[in-house]
Amino acid sequence: MRYKKENFFIEKVKASILAKKYSTPLYCYSYRKLNENINSFKRSFKSVNPLICFSVKSNANKLLLNEIRKLGLGADVVSIGELVRALKAGIKPNKIVFSGVGKTSKEINYAIQKKILLINAESKSEVLEIERLAKIKKRKVNIGIRLNPNTDAKTLSQISTGKKENKFGVSEKAFLDLIIYSKKSNFINLKCLSVHIGSQILNNKPYEKMLKVLEKIIHKSKFNFEYIDLGGGMGIDYDNNKKYLNLQKYSHQINEFLKKYKTKIIFEPGRAIIGNTGILISQIIYIKEGDNKNFIILDAAMNDLMRPALYNAKHRIIPLKKTNTKSNKIYEFVGPICESTDKFLTQKKFQKLKEKDFVAICDVGAYGMSLSSNYNLRPKATEILIKNSKIQIIYKRQNLKDLI
Ligand SMILES: *Cc1c(COP(=O)(O)O)cnc(C)c1O
Repeated sequence: MRYKKENFFIEKVKASILAKKYSTPLYCYSYRKLNENINSFKRSFKSVNPLICFSVKSNANKLLLNEIRKLGLGADVVSIGELVRALKAGIKPNKIVFSGVGKTSKEINYAIQKKILLINAESKSEVLEIERLAKIKKRKVNIGIRLNPNTDAKTLSQISTGKKENKFGVSEKAFLDLIIYSKKSNFINLKCLSVHIGSQILNNKPYEKMLKVLEKIIHKSKFNFEYIDLGGGMGIDYDNNKKYLNLQKYSHQINEFLKKYKTKIIFEPGRAIIGNTGILISQIIYIKEGDNKNFIILDAAMNDLMRPALYNAKHRIIPLKKTNTKSNKIYEFVGPICESTDKFLTQKKFQKLKEKDFVAICDVGAYGMSLSSNYNLRPKATEILIKNSKIQIIYKRQNLKDLI
């Protein structure tokens, strides 16, 4: 995805043509980028030889999941809906792990029935519930237990999950007790230790600390885990300032860990796989001029892309057609929704914009469409996938009639 002269292109397709043809707001994904991400992720961790389970909550589009499956990934799901969707996309049950703090009996039953690789339990109560349901089915069910390693991921507090004040996982003491409990059970087969400390992590330190905590607890437990599920969280370069998480370094850290404990590694990346594959194209409805800033009112809103309103996340905004102009006003890009948090970005130096111009909000492949809603009774946007010059509609804009 780049400019050719003044026009922005997704692979071989001019983005402004897509905007006109499919209308806006419009999610566009690049297949090539997806393919590159998956291959470079695999390459970085080649020596670790992990099972890579794509985090479906980051983007649950059925056709994208299908492509992700074809590129060799499994799935990490957090609800029965995502589990059904992953299976529908053809992902094999033995490549699916189920995470989440509040799985219901119905969800656990379905996961047992489908014989997925692991149900990663997050509390003693959940382990007991899995055991109870397994007993009814006269089955021995493979589980993991999620440890809360009390490690600061050094990311936004809203997407931090590995500290003891967070609701996720169990404490070290509870973990050790659950190992003893599981060993005695005829209906649960403890296979995995899982962790996931947060999202959009750009620094190797938190992962290094997390691995230290794992080493300590595995040593204490004297238990042989067939799998260690390290979760996801690998950050991407939203600011375009070439700051990435060093995956090779992380791989090296894991290899050091594997020298001490022979086990199979699982990853659950979402953002790192899909985040930078998508843009959200939007048209300027109005420009409202203020004293010292202009409000650029877009036809995309927080219902289409919630991350800025929810996490105060920053997504770059770029024009689909570059001009050699510069505005001396501050631009505030906002949506039409009746909430003051419905704003995307404040920009100081931007080219001069006019009403009806198109812009793209960047890096929205992860937690973009999957977090979208019908707030203000707005239909969900169309999603298209570009492969070279081929355009495929992978989700059709909701029909206002159906919505009403
Ligand atoms: C959300 C989540 C992930 C994916 O996180 P990313 O930051 O998108 O890689 C992985 N595992 C679990 C348990 C999650 O909740």
